[in-house]
Amino acid sequence: MLVATELKSELARIRPARPCCRRAELAGLLFAHGDRNGVRTLDHATARTAVQLASALGIGATAPRPATAGSRSGRHHLEVTLDRFAADDPTALQAACDRRAFVRGALLGSASISLGASGPHVEFVLRDRDRARRLRDLLAESDVAGGLMERRGRHVVYLKGQEQIAALLRLTGANRALLDFETGRVGREVRSRVNRLLNAEQANLGRTVRAADRQLQAIAHLDGTGELDRLSPGLREAAAERRAHPDADLDGLASSLGISRSAMNHRLRRLVELAGELAAPASPAASVGG
Ligand SMILES: [Zn+2]
Repeated sequence: MLVATELKSELARIRPARPCCRRAELAGLLFAHGDRNGVRTLDHATARTAVQLASALGIGATAPRPATAGSRSGRHHLEVTLDRFAADDPTALQAACDRRAFVRGALLGSASISLGASGPHVEFVLRDRDRARRLRDLLAESDVAGGLMERRGRHVVYLKGQEQIAALLRLTGANRALLDFETGRVGREVRSRVNRLLNAEQANLGRTVRAADRQLQAIAHLDGTGELDRLSPGLREAAAERRAHPDADLDGLASSLGISRSAMNHRLRRLVELAGELAAPASPAASVGG
């Protein structure tokens, strides 16, 4: 299962080594907010990343501090203000390393991730349609297919489905999240439940087959010694039914004789017991008396 906070902290720990990538990642962070000189976020890791990227690029940045303007949601945003930063247009990013870094920044800055019953879903929430289009095009260049939609005046680039989200995680270098996602903890739980059921079924089947074998051997023994003909009609009927249907389970045998399951069980157990009683004292005697 992919956990959004785990994913964001994994992304925040990735420190691009090259200035071009740092620059692109910072641009991605700012892009989402539509604010060229600051980052506003609910997420501490994201705020720290903005400060670290800026200072690595020699851009002055304030430490993360609580946002001064009250937020509509009433949640506590953090704000980082940068001195100056002219971000490039994301669609102008030439190098694959920079496209990756930009998307990672955007993912940190604006994405929400959910794993509803309808499947995994990632959304980038942007200020205007133009930004949404540019981000979608940038993703498409890296073989991640996103859709566009509008919700409450916000423009959303969304990714749906296992495949696209795995591609996004691979692109942004979220390797641990990708591994969790692809091994699919959720899927695994379902599979192991199915396996447990199948194993239980198998075990039941095994028991049924072994019981039938014991009964057939007992009946053959009783028959061979002539005892079978001397048994009560009920037991003889049960023996005949078992011989006629070696693979049937108790329910099947009982219903074809029109008796209860426990009566059938009792008769078959009795046959096995009688054969056992016959066999135990008889074998030494047989070798002496013939
Ligand atoms: Zn780069």
